[in-house]
Amino acid sequence: MNECLFCKIIKREIPADIIYENNEVLAFLDIQPVNFGHTLVIPKKHYEKIYNLPDEILKNIAPFIKKIAVAVKHGVNADGINIIMNNDGAAGQIVPHAHFHIIPRFANDGLRHWPGKPYANKEESSKMAEKIKNELV
Ligand code: AMP
Ligand code: ZN
Repeated sequence: MNECLFCKIIKREIPADIIYENNEVLAFLDIQPVNFGHTLVIPKKHYEKIYNLPDEILKNIAPFIKKIAVAVKHGVNADGINIIMNNDGAAGQIVPHAHFHIIPRFANDGLRHWPGKPYANKEESSKMAEKIKNELV
């Protein structure tokens, strides 16, 4: 994937403020942070989305998501941290290289979470749970 922006960052073909790396993982500052200190954690191997990300890579990256989250929280003295992964355009994914957003949050940063909506009734929620459960068998 020669044209991939994040692969180019991995290969140092374009600059980034790199925070951490090992053989499999890279963490660097998001160029347009939600709040300062917003960091992206990516697998070095190119996969577009969570759906086909091998379990083995996920297993290796998870501890680093935690490590970076703690470092960001302390480093910018945040009150909280959001960890977000966008998959597909409908979910807001712009860069097609799997990445986890580590976003520092502050009590008065003015950001709002997306609104929730209730199920009409118990039958509706049970049906929904069934649909998803059926995918797991
Ligand atoms: P997403 O919408 O989940 O695909 O997020 C892509 C993120 O990559 C956005 O938050 C961008 O600000 C960030 N981004 C885009 N280009 C760069 C870059 N050259 N260096 C660092 N972050 C970038
Ligand atoms: Zn890539």
